[in-house]
Amino acid sequence: MAQDPRTQPVSGHQTPLFEAERATATGSPQRITPGPVTVITHSADGIVGLDANRLIRVFNPAMERLTGLERGSVLGRPCHEVLQVLDIQGSRLCDTVCPVARCDSGTFDVEGTIATSNGQKLAVDLNYSVLCSRTGALKAAIVNVRDLGQLHQVNHIRSVLLASVSHELQTPISIIKAYANTLARADARWSEETVRDKLKAIEEESDRLSRLVTRLLYTSRLEAGAVSLNPMVIDLAKEAQRVALRLAETDETHEILVSFPGDFPPVMGDPEKVDQVLMNLIENAIKFSPQGGPVTVEGSVSGDEVLVTIADQGIGIGARDREHVFDLFYRASDSTARQFPGTGLGLHICRNLVHAHGGRIWVDSEPGVGSRFTFTLPIRHDD
Ligand code: ATP
Ligand code: MG
Repeated sequence: MAQDPRTQPVSGHQTPLFEAERATATGSPQRITPGPVTVITHSADGIVGLDANRLIRVFNPAMERLTGLERGSVLGRPCHEVLQVLDIQGSRLCDTVCPVARCDSGTFDVEGTIATSNGQKLAVDLNYSVLCSRTGALKAAIVNVRDLGQLHQVNHIRSVLLASVSHELQTPISIIKAYANTLARADARWSEETVRDKLKAIEEESDRLSRLVTRLLYTSRLEAGAVSLNPMVIDLAKEAQRVALRLAETDETHEILVSFPGDFPPVMGDPEKVDQVLMNLIENAIKFSPQGGPVTVEGSVSGDEVLVTIADQGIGIGARDREHVFDLFYRASDSTARQFPGTGLGLHICRNLVHAHGGRIWVDSEPGVGSRFTFTLPIRHDD
């Protein structure tokens, strides 16, 4: 009887890897403890297992996602025919320096491209682990494949995070240290007013630090999907009025005008999260219109959803930046926008929260004229 290629031994003896594959294929009871196959199946990295003849015996789901190739169509085929690895110069690695073909025992790292089902080339990092016999014959090999595009994105986010957060942390820490230092000087006598002013500044900067850390933690919980909604019927007009009043207390240069039609329908939402969206958008409208001017919060209805638009007459956002302002840690690149403090977390949080409610969010803006941020929420139906 023809043997299922997935169950063939790697070389002479059966490895636990292939035994486990057979157990799954023949419908034997599933093991509860995670074995090598479970790890391979759930690995975020692509994994390709090769036998002594360089034929593919393992092709995990991550590999299917990366290449678009189905496991059934590649098992038993030669590795070089399926992956078609090119190095960064575009030369075929399979014919020249492939560590599996040369049977170099050990691990090897290569950057290059592999072929995908639609004929495209995907930039990847390949890590080969090659096992050879004492006589120099290939026994088996494992190739770990990581999407370089994703890897670069993660590295980019990491470096932006470090640059942006360390700068935002450094400013309040320096102010707190300088003021505390001044007040602690044994050779100086300060008036009561000076002491109060400096303590107030220390308190404000501590609040700024605490807000930043809270936002960072909140963002990481949002990214991990660990924030749940507590939806209830809400009166969006009242929520907007409340948030606007709270912000107006600390701002004298802007007039915040809230206008909702009288028949504005109730919506389903988590009031605390909707408040956060309104708060972030109105705070931005205030921050990025340093010359003052009105900030408007307008509600309207369109079909099955309500729209809330927060508009300002501030510095505006250029076309290139408009595409990215909702990205994590993104801040507009022009020097005017960079004068204002911030970490680029607010709009990313807004987008996550609005999407979690089943809504949409976007921006219309013109540099030097102002910005209009709009988000939608589905209308609550009684049925
Ligand atoms: P944070 O909200 O974390 O304190 P931030 O305000 O810089 O920092 P976001 O709220 O995410 O970050 O906004 C991202 C960027 O989008 C801002 O840095 C700014 O360049 C641009 N932006 C946002 N709102 C406006 C606005 N109303 N007018 C002009 N630019 C804006
Ligand atoms: Mg902001």
